Order: sequence, then C-alpha cells, then structure tokens
Amino acid sequence: MNIHEYQAKEILGSYDISVPRGRMTLTADQVERSAKMMGGRCVVKAQIYAGGRGKAGGVQLVHHPEQAHEVAKELFGKRMVTPQTGPEGLKVRRILVEEPVEIAREFYLSVTLDRNSSRFCVIASAEGGVDIEEVAAKSPEKIQVLTIDPFTGLRPYQARRVALGLGLKGDLAEDCVQLILNLYRCALEKDCSLVEINPLVVTKAGWLLALDAKINFDDNAIFRHWEYHDLMDYSQMDPLEISAGKFDLAYIKLEGNIGCMVNGAGLAMATLDVLKEKGGYPANFLDVGGGATREKVSEAFKIILQDRDVRGVFVNIFGGIMRCDVIAQGIIEAASEVHCTLPIVVRMDGSQVEEGKRLLLESGLNVKTADDLGGGAETIMAMLAGNL
Ligand code: GDP
Ligand code: MN
Repeated sequence: MNIHEYQAKEILGSYDISVPRGRMTLTADQVERSAKMMGGRCVVKAQIYAGGRGKAGGVQLVHHPEQAHEVAKELFGKRMVTPQTGPEGLKVRRILVEEPVEIAREFYLSVTLDRNSSRFCVIASAEGGVDIEEVAAKSPEKIQVLTIDPFTGLRPYQARRVALGLGLKGDLAEDCVQLILNLYRCALEKDCSLVEINPLVVTKAGWLLALDAKINFDDNAIFRHWEYHDLMDYSQMDPLEISAGKFDLAYIKLEGNIGCMVNGAGLAMATLDVLKEKGGYPANFLDVGGGATREKVSEAFKIILQDRDVRGVFVNIFGGIMRCDVIAQGIIEAASEVHCTLPIVVRMDGSQVEEGKRLLLESGLNVKTADDLGGGAETIMAMLAGNL
C-alpha cells in the first residue's frame, strides 16, 4: 500500500527525522495562502502515488504567492505522467507547499525488505537525487547495501559505517547515524516494505533534511494497522483494484486483451505463460483464491468485464475446495447480469466438473469449455480470431 509524500513525511517526523516545514493543500487559493505564510518563496509539490515528478514539472520552486497560485492552477486536475505512472498518468488532487531549502549535497537512503534474504536492508548512496535508477544501472559500486540481521537489529556501528560511506564527518555523521537508526525503527514498527528518502540532503546551513519521502506499507501487515485505511487516497488507485480489494480478490492489470480468472497464484502464472505461448496477451488476471463462493466468482467475473481492454475471457480453475458447478453458476450469473456477449472459455477440473460444464453449455452464453490448459488457450485464441 502506497501513501503520499506529505503523509510519509508526517510519519518520518514522528520518528525525529527532520523534514521541511510544509502544508498539504487542496485548492490553488490554499497554495497561495501557504506561500504567503512562508514568505513568498516556496516549493510546490504535486502529490501523486509515483516518483519522477521533478522531471515532469510536478516539483516547482516559485518566488511569490501569485506565481504559486498560477503553478497550482496548472497542476490541480492535471494527469501527471512520469516514468513510474504508466501512459495514463495520475491525477493531481493534492499539493504540498514547502519552505524552500538550499541544498549542499543530495543522498539516497532507504530501508527496504529484501525478498531474497527475507530481511530488511539499508540502501545508501552519495549520488542521490532524481537519477538513482541510472546510478544503480551504470555504477552499482556507488550504492551501499547493508543487510540487517533481525535478531540483533541494526547496530549503531553499522549505521555509522553507512554514514561514513556517504562521506559525512563529525556531527553530521552522528546525526546521520541517528537518522538511519530511526528510519529502521520506522520500517519495523510501521510494517513498511519500503521507506525511502531521496534526496536526503545536507542543507547549506549544515542540517540533514528529508526532502522527499516515500513509504510503502506491507499489504500483508495492514490488518494490524487499522489506521492505515484512513491514509489511502482512492483517487490514485485503479478503480477495478479497489472493487477487487472490497471482495478480497487479487486483481492485476496487464496490457493485452484477454481477461483471466484463476484460483491460486501458481495457476495464474501458468495460465499467463500458456496464453503467451499460444500468442495471446492477457489483459489482467484475477485470483479468486482457494475457497471462493458463488458471489465472489460472480463479482470477480464482473470486475474482469469492466476492464475495457477485455475482448475475451479465459477462466482456468481447479475445483478442489470450490465445486465446479458453483463456479459455473457464478460465471453465468455475472455474465447474464451484464449481458456479456464476449467469447468465454472455461477450463475447469475437479469436483462436479461434468455438472459445471453442462450448466455453462446450456446457459446460452458465448462460452466453450476445455479439458486442459493448452486446449483452453487455443480455444480462446480461435474464438477471438473469429474461427470458432
Ligand atoms: P521526485 O522527482 O518525484 O522524486 O520528487 P522530489 O521531491 O525528490 O524532488 C525532485 C528534486 O527537486 C529533488 O531531487 C531536489 O533536487 C529538487 N527539490 C525539491 N525540493 C527542493 C527545495 O526545497 N529546494 C531545492 N533547491 N530543490 C528542491
Ligand atoms: Mn525524490
């Protein structure tokens, strides 16, 4: 789960990490008033669930309140496209107005969950700022990675090694040690999969300051942080992902034109692989999980049909806990309700499979059934090509 920069900065602030003074605003008038309060000069920052804003015009230094108003009017409502948003971009509905900072040096610093070692690691680089991806690709030796042993936690001497590795000295190095320890404590206590400060700056006045902040919460731990629900900004999320979340379904948007409904992540991967092997392109996949009910299957099917890229649907379900006739009923219910005429191929196996297939074939829908994965993929391809 994502949150906005201004929210991430509030959390960092609660861990004694310094951030610039700022205000979150919702209108151009509020931006102008905030600029006045800061003495005119300020930084106007579009809040979207993506980075790369600086280069897309989403972070602008302005010199007086009227200019702040103008820039804000331009930004509000605009769909901002950055390398992290995808081609449709994300709509700007909140703007953070901050006091301007004079930068002496920019660093990259993050604590993230390394899925290979199943441990947190600290990542730091003296080449921080907007092009960290390029640094990682071209000169990986300029990036320090410290894996943290969960039993000992992060020790001050380890944090000190990172701080010294950034080239910091004296009090600044000690401040940085505290900051790194606090950042790790934040990642741990708030169940973050990522806490990133890019850039972490040394100001010309000689202070360490988190100029940008990004936090991702681990979705698997949200159940123990009910307060996180209030932090979500649904306007930044795919509406279909939101509906899927309500029914506890995992929906992933992809780029092709075949909607896929599956039960289980492994079956999802296999389905996508086989479709691609047969020359097909999945538009999405929706995992209904092991013990889905008829209602859940029906909601899942409707979500897939709402995806405007979908030209056909491929269902691949193993009826173990879930009976095939129940799955069939869910599909028929949903497809009839929204008057679906798109080609559908249902490959299922398991308990009550014959009854499930009979229900589907007698439903009057544009549906075919299949016995195996490869055959099912070929059938949906043939139907899409108009050959069946
Ligand atoms: P991102 O591009 O989405 O990661 O947005 P950032 O918040 O990191 O801003 C991009 C860049 O704008 C930073 O790397 C800084 O160089 C610059 N920037 C942001 N705030 C300030 C500021 O207060 N003063 C100055 N001089 N530069 C800033
Ligand atoms: Mn940044």
